[in-house]
Amino acid sequence: MKDNKLGINTICTHVGETPDEQFKGAVSPMYLSSSYAFMDIDVKRYPRYYNTPNQEYLSKKIAALEHTEAAMIFGSGMAAISTVLLAFLKSGDHVVVQNDIYGGTRNLIEKHFEDYNIAFTFTKDLKITSFKDCIQTNTKLIYIETPSNPLLKLVDMEAVADLAKSKNILSVIDNTFASPIIQNPIDFGIDIVVHSATKYFGGHSDICAGAVATSQAYIDTIWQTGIALGGSLSDYTVWMLERSMKTLAIRVKAQQRNARKLAKFLDAHPAVEKVYYPGLKNHENHQIAKKQMKGYGAMLSFELKENIDAEAFLKALQLIKPSMSLAGIESTMLLPSKTSHSLLTAEARKEQGIKDGLIRFSVGIESKKDLMYDIEQAISNS
Ligand SMILES: *Cc1c(COP(=O)(O)O)cnc(C)c1O
Repeated sequence: MKDNKLGINTICTHVGETPDEQFKGAVSPMYLSSSYAFMDIDVKRYPRYYNTPNQEYLSKKIAALEHTEAAMIFGSGMAAISTVLLAFLKSGDHVVVQNDIYGGTRNLIEKHFEDYNIAFTFTKDLKITSFKDCIQTNTKLIYIETPSNPLLKLVDMEAVADLAKSKNILSVIDNTFASPIIQNPIDFGIDIVVHSATKYFGGHSDICAGAVATSQAYIDTIWQTGIALGGSLSDYTVWMLERSMKTLAIRVKAQQRNARKLAKFLDAHPAVEKVYYPGLKNHENHQIAKKQMKGYGAMLSFELKENIDAEAFLKALQLIKPSMSLAGIESTMLLPSKTSHSLLTAEARKEQGIKDGLIRFSVGIESKKDLMYDIEQAISNS
C-alpha cells in the first residue's frame, strides 16, 4: 500500500501490518521465531538484527508517521538514543546538547561520554544563538528535545537544522513529548528522530520501547551499532506496540483537546500561579509552537499559589494519578523536584526555572469535566 498520500489515522491503522498470507486474518500474526532459514533466502533474519517480520513491518508504520524512508524499533527509548549517539560519535568528537533534556539522556552523556573520549557542551538556553556558541571544529552532532520537560520550552527546529547543515553537522531530535501526530521534525530539516515508544506510541503505560526514524543511509549506520549493542525489542512487545499505535492519532488528538481546555481552565483559576503550555498566548515560545507544531500537545505544567502545598494537592487527587512517566491515556501528575529532577541541586533547578512546587501534568483522555472537578476538589481539600 502506498502511504505517502494516506491520512494520519489510516497510517496508524494500516501501514506496516504484517501480512497473514496463510489465513488472511484481520490483524498481524505474531512471528516469535528467533531462528530463520538461511539457504535460498535474501534476508538473514534474527531478533537482534532488528529484522523479524513484526519488527520490519512495524518500522514501516513509524517511518510513514515521521515522513522518513526507514525506521528501527528498540527495547527502550534509551536503547534507541544510546545507539544513535554511539553510531555517529567517535573518540575525539564533540556534541552540542540542549540544556534541559530527558534525565536519562543527560546521565548517558555526563556519566559516560568522558570515558569514550567524546566531548560535549550543554547549551546555556534554548535560543539558536546559544547552540551556535557551543559549536567547535570537531562538533559532529546537535541533540535537541522540543517541547522540553517539564517547562514545555521550545527549540526552533528549522533554525537548528539550518545551523547544523551550514556546518555539516548531524541534527538529532527526541520527539517523544510531541509525537509524530503533533510535529514532524524531518519536514523542518532535522536528520534523525528518536522516540521513547514507552510514552505516546504505547499510550497505555504497559510497554517499554524505543524507535528511530531517518533516511535509509543513516539507518544502515545505526543498524551496525545496533546489532553490536543489542537493544532490540521482543516480538511480543513489538506486536503489542503495533496494536497500540493503531489508535495513536485519535488518542493524541483527544489528549491534546483536553490539554488545551485544561490549560485554559488552570490559567484562569485563582489558585493557580502560572501555567506552562505552548498553546497559551502567554507562553514564551507560543510563536515557535504555531510555526512547527500541529496543535500544542498534551503535556503541560503549572504552579499553585504559594499558600497551597503541591504534595498535599497531589495526595488529594481522586481521579488523576500522581505517578511517574507520561503520555498514557490516563491523566497523571508529578513533581519534577521529587522525581525527574530530584538529583539536581535546588539551585540547579532554580536556574532552570523549576520551582519545587511545579506540577507536570500529562493529560489523558478522560472526560474533561471530571478532570476539572478533580483538580477543583483537590485544591479545596489541600
Ligand atoms: C521516557 C523518555 C525517554 C527514555 O525512554 P525509555 O523508554 O524510558 O528508555 C527519553 N526521552 C524522553 C523525552 C522521555 O520522556
